[in-house]
Amino acid sequence: MDYKHWIAQTPMGQDSLGKGIEGVVDWAQSYLQSLETRDVSPAVEWGEVLAGLELNPPEQGIGVDEIGGLIQQADSEFVDRLVHWNSPRFFAFFPCSNSVPAILGELMSAVLNVNGMLWSTSPACTELEVRVMDWCAELFGLDDAFAFGRSTTGGGCIQGTASEAVLAALVAARRRCTKRGIDRSKVTVYTSDQAHSSVVKAAMVAGLADDADDRSRVRVLETDADLRIDPAVLERVMLEDIEAGLIPAMVVATIGSTSTGAVDPVGAIADVLDRLKVDEHRCWLHLDAAWAGAASVCPEFRGMMDGHERADSICINPHKWLLTNFDCDLFWVRDHRVLTDSMSIQPAYLKNKASETSEVVDYRDWHVPLGRKMRALKLWMVIRCFGADGLRSHIRGHVELAEMVERWVVDDPRVELACERMLGLVCLKVLGDADLTKRLVDEVNARGRVLITHSMVPIADDGAGGRQMCSIARVSVGSPGVGKGDIEVLCTEIKGWLDREVGTR
Ligand code: PLP
Repeated sequence: MDYKHWIAQTPMGQDSLGKGIEGVVDWAQSYLQSLETRDVSPAVEWGEVLAGLELNPPEQGIGVDEIGGLIQQADSEFVDRLVHWNSPRFFAFFPCSNSVPAILGELMSAVLNVNGMLWSTSPACTELEVRVMDWCAELFGLDDAFAFGRSTTGGGCIQGTASEAVLAALVAARRRCTKRGIDRSKVTVYTSDQAHSSVVKAAMVAGLADDADDRSRVRVLETDADLRIDPAVLERVMLEDIEAGLIPAMVVATIGSTSTGAVDPVGAIADVLDRLKVDEHRCWLHLDAAWAGAASVCPEFRGMMDGHERADSICINPHKWLLTNFDCDLFWVRDHRVLTDSMSIQPAYLKNKASETSEVVDYRDWHVPLGRKMRALKLWMVIRCFGADGLRSHIRGHVELAEMVERWVVDDPRVELACERMLGLVCLKVLGDADLTKRLVDEVNARGRVLITHSMVPIADDGAGGRQMCSIARVSVGSPGVGKGDIEVLCTEIKGWLDREVGTR
């Protein structure tokens, strides 16, 4: 068979695509339906999946016409051994959002398979992203300084993850220093002991730390009693560094920390940065609002973003809480010239007339990867389908469900809130022995009906004034499709464990 004939018949053959898509749609419908009843996490031993897979790739393929068999095989061998992140009883980590428009947008993006590295390599890919970023800036009530259309230097792009966003911010912040002639070995970065691990990882990747424990140029500040950055501590540490000849390049403040949803005081942090300018230059302020930021579609939750207008960059992940499947992180910068200056490189094969005019946005210079898919399509579909109003209802509905969990915790004498509920996140501890909370999480999760997460946070010792690391159980409401019945299942699972292990009080 000649190549042209082979290719028409198999990889891109339209008949087989149609049949295959029908097969996937049938599977998707029954999978999504099954989430109502199936366990969130199966009991799987390492090697179970590997054992079912041939050691070597097949010499002869089965042909695209037979793809239905592969869909079935994937369902029984892989899907049954996954944690079902979109189960309505998934309350762990921060759930991954999803919705029909997002799935369809992702599918269209896969069909198109464009590479929007440059405006000229797929104009609509870039222009849609530019507009969707501005839409989202407006939806979240962000300052005009971050929108392409409402500022001269602001704008944003879609990154894969918040980890990539903080890395891009750090590289830009470092560049802003080195451009002034500062030795890159002198730059430092500041964050809190409650910040996501991606901040320290970014420092490791950017060469500011040799490993996760290297604190020579990374300051992980002890937080205050509310697990927030204490601006006085930040100021003292930054000042000591400046006096020692180091140059603060970036502070990362978190709006909605991973363990408890703590919100750093952004305005007071910006005040510190204004006071500690070095040679008139202010240190870069990056805001990690990866999870909580989505809630700012609701005006009543925007207080947490106070001061954001003084930041240099912000990230929010619709893939966490805005009905858009993984991956989708929104990253805005006040001055995209610093970002592109830090990552722009012009090999001959990427040169083109449009880029030379400087009129177009070439997103390849906004992050580490060169190639980029049309991620904006799924977000555009989500926003067009649900509108701002629908997105607000989605967030408000989840917050109401989290309030149900909070009420139950407050009413049960065997548990207490470890800290105030933040939006959809409720953190609780079991009263009594220190190891009870961890056991609760492990043993409830092992039953498979619901999934929650354990974390450790420094909490003030009652009365004594000191702090000690304390176990908490995190219940994060955010899975698509979660409803009152699922919250009841969650509470029943936790109560059942308490009845068995703690007894009635
Ligand atoms: N920032 C916060 C506050 C997070 O909670 C997380 C993940 O949960 C991240 C950053 C990292 O997100 P990503 O997986 O998009 O890198």
